[in-house]
Amino acid sequence: MKIIADLQIHSRYSGATSSKMNLHEIEYYAALKGVNLLGTGDSLHPLWLRELKTGLEEIDGSGLYRVKGGANNIFFVTQTEVATVHEFAGKARRIHHVILFSSLEMSVQAGERLKRYGDIASDGRPILNVRPAELVETLLEIDQDCLVFPAHAWTPWWSLFGSIGGVDRLEECYEDKSDEIYAIETGLSSDPPMNWRISSLDRFVLLSSSDSHSPYPYRLGREAVVFELKNPAYGEIVRAIKNRDRSSILMTLEVPPSYGKYHWSGHRRCGVGPVSPQKAREMNYRCPRCGRRLTKGVEDRVEELADRPVGYRPSDAIDFMYVLPLQELIALSMGADYTTEMYLQTRKIWTIYNSLVDKFGSEYRILLDAPINELAKTSSQELASLIEDMRRSELEIIPGFDGVYGKILPRTAKRRSEKPDERMRRLEDYI
Ligand SMILES: [Zn+2]
Ligand SMILES: [Zn+2]
Repeated sequence: MKIIADLQIHSRYSGATSSKMNLHEIEYYAALKGVNLLGTGDSLHPLWLRELKTGLEEIDGSGLYRVKGGANNIFFVTQTEVATVHEFAGKARRIHHVILFSSLEMSVQAGERLKRYGDIASDGRPILNVRPAELVETLLEIDQDCLVFPAHAWTPWWSLFGSIGGVDRLEECYEDKSDEIYAIETGLSSDPPMNWRISSLDRFVLLSSSDSHSPYPYRLGREAVVFELKNPAYGEIVRAIKNRDRSSILMTLEVPPSYGKYHWSGHRRCGVGPVSPQKAREMNYRCPRCGRRLTKGVEDRVEELADRPVGYRPSDAIDFMYVLPLQELIALSMGADYTTEMYLQTRKIWTIYNSLVDKFGSEYRILLDAPINELAKTSSQELASLIEDMRRSELEIIPGFDGVYGKILPRTAKRRSEKPDERMRRLEDYI
């Protein structure tokens, strides 16, 4: 069974999240998106946990859950994100971690133990005063099948390799528990080819998830992992990740990294950016307007830590495809401002979106599988062409920087006519 999984989201109990982050809305929009396995988000938070326990039921002892009375077949896995603060080499390191638990009950028990490190009721994503190694050790004592991995590993703030408060080697974070880490969540601003340049990351599964703060399909599931599972169960997912099993982990779905908010450097407040890695080095990472430090881009950080050239691909790499939210592509195809969330919520956009989903089944069917000529007939040639470009990895994007999303450029007729058809990949090629 093919599973499109978004393993990291938040509930409405995390800071800056939509009040609509409740189980029914999440389930409803996940079905539109075509995501069929979701992290619960925030499973340590007492109030959210209570909602999860009343609103979900376990599926036949599988460690996976579904919404009680839910109309859609969406699986949930017990999941949270936590922040740790620890000192390494005389400097405070602030890092986010994703935790998957084998059951809701395990998360309850973990919550009891983790209380000593911080207030787990303060926020859906609590800050814990604990060394990451001790966190991993504590969690494994409670739930030997739990899985911990660094979240959005390259983001400047609160991440493993972040330029501000991160480390240079995974061992500087997880110390003697590094062997218990099997995956890395790569975040929106980096893609697998960027991570392939660092040989020490070869043993990890590169995961992608949305970290979504809202249930709408332009956020939920915008990055995901495609699994092939015989009998979807928590144990099967964890085994696939621990064994880096390429017959179970087919690929990741990723936004182009330049679309991410931290791909290049810049200083948003002064309107400086995006600045390329080379130019940023020349500027010594100083903002020419205010003299403060530029927020260093993810590409710059990868360049600093890379021991392989651009374009290197490990022989056993897990594949990926670029995707972008359909609502943004619809807006773009109409020449409208796709970056304004209010616009993505207009009736005009939802009407086109829903008619496409009605015809093809889900957003991911549309993005990955639907024949381009059929898409053109159901919507417009402009939208069909944008999707075609996306599948060929040929959208032009002005890179994001310092919290500003990358800007997708409308396609040009010239670009279109130059490209042969065989470069287009579809999900079926992988199955
Ligand atoms: Zn985070
Ligand atoms: Zn500035």
